[in-house]
Amino acid sequence: MKDSIHVSKENYLKAILEAEAEGREVIPVLLAHWLEVSAPAVTMALKRLKRDGFVEVGADGIVRLTAAGREIAYRTALRHHLIERMLSEIFGMEWHEIHEEAERLEHAVSPAFETKLKEKLGECGACPHGNLVLPESPAERKKRGETPLSEASEGWRYTVVSLFERDPKLLLFLHGAGIGPGQSMLVISRNYDQTISIELPAGISILSRPAAEAVWLRPELLG
Ligand SMILES: [Zn+2]
Repeated sequence: MKDSIHVSKENYLKAILEAEAEGREVIPVLLAHWLEVSAPAVTMALKRLKRDGFVEVGADGIVRLTAAGREIAYRTALRHHLIERMLSEIFGMEWHEIHEEAERLEHAVSPAFETKLKEKLGECGACPHGNLVLPESPAERKKRGETPLSEASEGWRYTVVSLFERDPKLLLFLHGAGIGPGQSMLVISRNYDQTISIELPAGISILSRPAAEAVWLRPELLG
């Protein structure tokens, strides 16, 4: 699926937009990691995207979308969101099963089918990872009283609200660790080595900082 220039272009642009929305600075090495391509492949793709007016690469090495790039990225993200919700809400697939499927199908959706999906599902709902069409920034989430697991308080109980979903390997890892939207957990300790110990129904888990930063929580009110 990664052999067509058209598909790669959409994938690159969507990855950049989602990462921006998550409040991250997009550098080529991150794109290589997320899209599972080599560093030279990213360099080539960025050169092409720059030539076609879809991205700019700053002197600081940070990749930013142009207005034209942003428009294509948003359309792709919207189709991805609608497909995820179709697979989950209509076909009952689980959040950890749908990423690959949605990545493939999002490029095949015709405008007519996209309209049908929008009519059926609406544009405002959350996907099975707990996200809107675009992930919200950490600042917006914190304003609503949510906290990333990496900053959660010791001794508190939380429910998982959403997962940053840009990195499919991270989603698989979290699923393997028993962490998904709706899951309740107790934060035992934030450790000296920047890991965090939590208690889940299956037992105690220790998570590294990069994984904990991708998990957003809401405190459970006691009593
Ligand atoms: Zn999702």
